[in-house]
Amino acid sequence: MMGRPTGLQVALMLAGVAVIFAIDTFAPLDIEIAVLYAVVVIASADFLGRRGILLVCAVCVLQTLLSYGIVHSESFESGPVLRALIGLCAIGIATLAALRNRAAAESLSDQAALLDLTHDAIFVRDRNDVITYWNAGAEELYGWPRKEALGQKASDLLKTKYPPSAGPMKQLDDSSRWQGELIHTRRDGLEVWVVSRWAVQRGERGRPIATMEINSGITEQKQAEDALHHARSQLEHVTRISTLGELTASIAHEVNQPLAAIVTNGEASLRWLLRDEPNIEEVRRAVERMIANGRRASDVITRLRALARKGNPSHTVLTLNDIVADVIPLVEREMLNNDVALRLDLQAPAPLVLGDRVQLAQVVINLVVNAIHAMSQIGGRRRLLSISSKASLEDSNSQMAVLEIEDTGTGIDPKIASDIFTAFHTTKADGMGMGLSISRTIVESHGGSISATPGDRWGALFTIRLPVQQQVDATVPNSHARGSTSGSPAATFRHADESVGQNGFDLQSPR
Ligand code: ADP
Repeated sequence: MMGRPTGLQVALMLAGVAVIFAIDTFAPLDIEIAVLYAVVVIASADFLGRRGILLVCAVCVLQTLLSYGIVHSESFESGPVLRALIGLCAIGIATLAALRNRAAAESLSDQAALLDLTHDAIFVRDRNDVITYWNAGAEELYGWPRKEALGQKASDLLKTKYPPSAGPMKQLDDSSRWQGELIHTRRDGLEVWVVSRWAVQRGERGRPIATMEINSGITEQKQAEDALHHARSQLEHVTRISTLGELTASIAHEVNQPLAAIVTNGEASLRWLLRDEPNIEEVRRAVERMIANGRRASDVITRLRALARKGNPSHTVLTLNDIVADVIPLVEREMLNNDVALRLDLQAPAPLVLGDRVQLAQVVINLVVNAIHAMSQIGGRRRLLSISSKASLEDSNSQMAVLEIEDTGTGIDPKIASDIFTAFHTTKADGMGMGLSISRTIVESHGGSISATPGDRWGALFTIRLPVQQQVDATVPNSHARGSTSGSPAATFRHADESVGQNGFDLQSPR
């Protein structure tokens, strides 16, 4: 929209018209000075609307005719008439051009006004990063009024940060547009998270002359995502702790057994020492056994503390065999109490995956505890829990690390079969129906999948698939190094003596 002309602009215009009139009328020049009125008409288009331009045009035409009348009233010659006509033509052409310019400028300014209707922040930065356009949305989002923002450096004003979680700005199909997420600082110092789209404006020879930026605020969405993430990890933690609670007896046994062994060996050592001739060799062996048992108890507690801790997931290179090795000591007693036998068939060397050790252990514990529950009431057949791991080549030619957990229990109730991975679907009187839902979230957040199918003859088979990590990272944890050099980490269990076959072993829990 056109603003009102200032007094100075009107005065300058009137002075111009008067000077041209004076020279045209009183200076003895043989040229058509009236063409200079065209300049006045064109200049007026900068601050006058359509009507104003027409008025200036009319004044200039009248002045030209008046001058002609004063100077040539007594003689009629073709030369001065022709010159006057040229002057009038120049004024006419200039008026047409000025009107057209004004119409184009008005339509552009109408379109620019549209940019103020959106809540998106739109601004333009020139090659020196100086802001040359700032819409109402930008005023609203950043709190800087247009007057103050124009002329400032965008980097100083917005203090752009590139959040690492969002990755770099992505170039869109052509080479002049980018999109990504950024963090900007508002005038009041608060940070706003935005989805930003940039288009580079190029001049002649393709040189960039400015960048147009459209930013939509997504701070609330990000805060909601963070809150959801936080709530989910809280829930995950609570579920994990409640599952560990179910395993208290099993875990207590795992710690008590080595403690009892330490006491027995300590007493034996004392006896060897109190003899008339102390048997130092026997004492040394007993002390070695005490140390080994102390380490075993401390290992269980370390695993337990890791599972009970509440922290952000941290992904390391590991194998599913490592996870099984972490979990078995915690559930062994539970299996024993429920007369469940364990068959392990773990492929070695196991494929590497990238994952959070605690989260993946939570998934395996959950599947194992569910399997034990599903077998706890059955009679007339062997209660067998089979855990096997292998690498498998998928259709897409990608390698997956696969872990299968199969039981000989009741099988999945057909009534909830299609919903077992959805929260709150449970067939247990005291169940929450959260375990499998959380397991699925965890596995999927690792880029994998989890599925349930009927077991071979009875029971259920749960399969976890995780993408194989091709590159071995320098951050490979020690435990993995141990697992891959000595074959299956399961072989480090105290039951290794009972193993059958090289990679798999069948454990029948003592009754
Ligand atoms: P909850 O254990 O609290 O019920 P889950 O999400 O772990 O929650 O399991 C949901 C339901 O899936 C269980 O109530 C049970 O009906 C079924 N289910 C899970 N694992 C097995 C299994 N191994 N055999 C048979 N049913 C199972």
